[in-house]
Amino acid sequence: MLQRFHLPGSLAWISIVFLAGCGGKPAPVVKTGGPIVVASTFKGEYPIKVVATTGMVGDLVRNVAGEHAQITQLMGEGIDPHLYKPSSGDVSTLNNADIIFYSGRNLEGKMGDLFVRMAGRKPTFAVTDYIEDQFILDNEEQHFDPHLWFDVALWSKTVGVVRDVLVQYDPKHAAEYQANADKYQKSLTALHEYAKTQLATVPKEQRVLVTAHDAFRYFGRAYDIEVRGVQGISTESEASVKEINELVQFLANRKIKAVFVESSVSEKNVKALIEGCQKGRNHTVVIGGELYSDAMGKPGTPQGSYEGMIRHNVDTIVKALK
Ligand SMILES: [Zn+2]
Repeated sequence: MLQRFHLPGSLAWISIVFLAGCGGKPAPVVKTGGPIVVASTFKGEYPIKVVATTGMVGDLVRNVAGEHAQITQLMGEGIDPHLYKPSSGDVSTLNNADIIFYSGRNLEGKMGDLFVRMAGRKPTFAVTDYIEDQFILDNEEQHFDPHLWFDVALWSKTVGVVRDVLVQYDPKHAAEYQANADKYQKSLTALHEYAKTQLATVPKEQRVLVTAHDAFRYFGRAYDIEVRGVQGISTESEASVKEINELVQFLANRKIKAVFVESSVSEKNVKALIEGCQKGRNHTVVIGGELYSDAMGKPGTPQGSYEGMIRHNVDTIVKALK
């Protein structure tokens, strides 16, 4: 169902899409919580064929598995995992995989049934499903907020998940997986400290992050920043006129000088905010930069790794808000 509303004043026409099925239905999960049990062991020829969904998961597995695995990543730069529909090519890639890792907590919302099917045939693991519920943020509809990778310390718990899966699946290389995991864990601990120290240099009253969708709640909790997204924790349901107007008022009242666009989400809502502030409230807001939210940057660039993506976001936010 597609409805259009005309906003009073200067804001442009905004399409509001109500998607069937977003709301009540809980996500199918393969398994929540530990202990991790891998039902089979690897018997094929190396490298192990791993399929990962997002860049963040691919990077994680690459770091822990090292040379023993070949990783195929389904979602590249600029791809929105909330909306991603697997192609028939993806289905055959998954069919040919030895083992599958995905992010979970309903991030890959349109792939849930496929993962359930795959889990019946081969080791299939959602890395965030093994993080205890007490650390997971949810919203009023009891949907889990899936964007855990923005709290680096919390995301680093997934290192142990991948390590434990690989150690059981390929016990021959257990010592290497353990050593790789320790090394990666150390670099993530340093990354967490970097984010904390850098963001603390922005004065508290200016530490407000306004983005296209609500991907940064874990980031806000971990690094003491107030966060607001135009869209909710999924990009599936679009922002309402009321939500846009409330944010315009918030930006003007708090005299916030920059908002941010995201590489995997359309800029149109953020632009509506800027226009609303300028014309309706006589308050100038600029785009503070582009953040990588649900997808990393281009492979081979600094932002094409998890660590580079986090550093880019932190540096961009600090520069724009300070
Ligand atoms: Zn998201």
